[in-house]
Amino acid sequence: MTRRIFWAIFSASFLIFLLGVVFCVYFLQKEFEKNILLSMRNQAYSIKTILDSTSMSISAIKIPARLSVIEDNGEVVFDSVLQGVLESHSNRPEIIDAIKKGEGMAKRFSANLHQKTFYYALKLRDGKILRIASSRDNFIKIFLDSIFWWIGLLVFSVLVCILLARVLSRLILSPLESLNLKNFSNLSSVYDEFLPFLNKISQQEKTIQKQLKILRQKNQEFNAITQNMQECLILLNEDLRVVSFNKMAKLVFKNLDNHKKLIEIFKSEEILDTANKALRFKRCECDISIDGTYYQILASGILDEEIGSEKSREFKSRGVVLLILDITEKKERENLRREFSANVSHELKTPLTSISGYAELLKNNLVQPCDVNEFGRKIENQAKRLLELINDIMKLSELDESKSDENIKERIDLFKSVQNILEQLPTNGLQVEVKGYGEVYGVKTLIEDMIFNLCENAIKYNKKNGSIKVIITENSLSIQDSGIGIAKQNQKRVFERFFREDKSHSKRIEGTGLGLSIVKHIANLHQFDIKLKSKMGKGTKITISWKNS
Ligand code: ADP
Repeated sequence: MTRRIFWAIFSASFLIFLLGVVFCVYFLQKEFEKNILLSMRNQAYSIKTILDSTSMSISAIKIPARLSVIEDNGEVVFDSVLQGVLESHSNRPEIIDAIKKGEGMAKRFSANLHQKTFYYALKLRDGKILRIASSRDNFIKIFLDSIFWWIGLLVFSVLVCILLARVLSRLILSPLESLNLKNFSNLSSVYDEFLPFLNKISQQEKTIQKQLKILRQKNQEFNAITQNMQECLILLNEDLRVVSFNKMAKLVFKNLDNHKKLIEIFKSEEILDTANKALRFKRCECDISIDGTYYQILASGILDEEIGSEKSREFKSRGVVLLILDITEKKERENLRREFSANVSHELKTPLTSISGYAELLKNNLVQPCDVNEFGRKIENQAKRLLELINDIMKLSELDESKSDENIKERIDLFKSVQNILEQLPTNGLQVEVKGYGEVYGVKTLIEDMIFNLCENAIKYNKKNGSIKVIITENSLSIQDSGIGIAKQNQKRVFERFFREDKSHSKRIEGTGLGLSIVKHIANLHQFDIKLKSKMGKGTKITISWKNS
């Protein structure tokens, strides 16, 4: 702006200066010509007085100008500069005027002298015309003769104009430069013409500040939400490069960084495909697995404008938002459920096939009368096993559905419960010992189911003349047997549904493979800890512990 004002002032002042010079020269020249003619007139009158009053000849008069005497018919009778016969001067305007009015003057380019010439003619007493001619250089010659002066004047005027323009532009802009656009309280030094404009800026500044505050607040809210989210959030631009991400995303995907390409982070064509689709079709999702963890990727295009018909549903997105959920637990549960259903049908089929086989033999009278009882017992056993299986399956599915706070909890005397349960179970000559006292806060039926399963296993998988030790403390219950033990590699697996350790002895010892799964489920529901210690051939100790409540 300073530069524009400077040039405007400079051009205006320089133009004014030039016009001033031109007008001055013009008027000075006019004045100068007038003075020349006036001095020529004075000279002519003086010569006329001399000639009229004395007998002096005109040729004796010497003046620095051309003198001529012309008859009233135009014939030149004397000329102080040009010799010989000159052409008639009757048509010269100054001569015509002098004949008519007594004097005349003119200014023209002289064909004889080849110069711009001023003429003054005066009628003498004898009727002849006295004419004085004075030649002057033309303007261009005068100008060229004094060219150095003109150049000097031009340089001087340019310098003056530059100085003037600089000083004035600074003077004009200094009130604006001293203006504080953040604080409009002091506007006294500002031009009045700017006040409406500055007031408008002030209002807009206030609006901008207000909107900035709202934006900052929104940003903080957004950050508070995204940074505390348990899901990973990643923002990509249209080239599928990372623009932003939340804390969780960085925690899970360590190599995540701004400007990185999506494919460099996940190295999965599937996720790249999903993001690309989201760019065009608004929403897309897929499941991927990275290092044994399953993730669900929900990709949403950041809408810019809709293109194409409603049917094609094609969008032009400016980027993609990726919401990444860890679905490992869900996947595992799904797998478990699938496995469970397969196992259930298999486990149910086995006793049913036996029952149907025995029944068919009986129906077709293919059984010896002495074996009928044995067949009846086998059918009864398989039916019992089937019933046990169905009971355990139902218990497990009930446990799957129930939540810890849905059931009524109470304080349970563990010593009493253990005693009751052991009375219901055939101890087969085993040495049973119950030690200690303790109470636990929980759902009575479930806690007793848990103890029942553990005691039943301690009896089932024991040796002849073995022992069982139940130790109760304030915050634990452990059931120890001197039985066959569990192999190290199976110690974790015994809590899986339908897992039975050794198929050969499992066949001998009846069971569903669901007892310890039920125990684990009940413990989880009460937030109890389970520890299993076992040595092959020596025995097993399972300890349930809880925090005092
Ligand atoms: P089951 O109905 O077969 O007893 P469980 O879920 O209670 O089913 O037990 C799973 C497997 O764990 C059993 O088949 C058995 O091989 C092993 N097991 C459980 N408890 C004991 C124990 N006290 N001693 C030895 N093995 C055990």
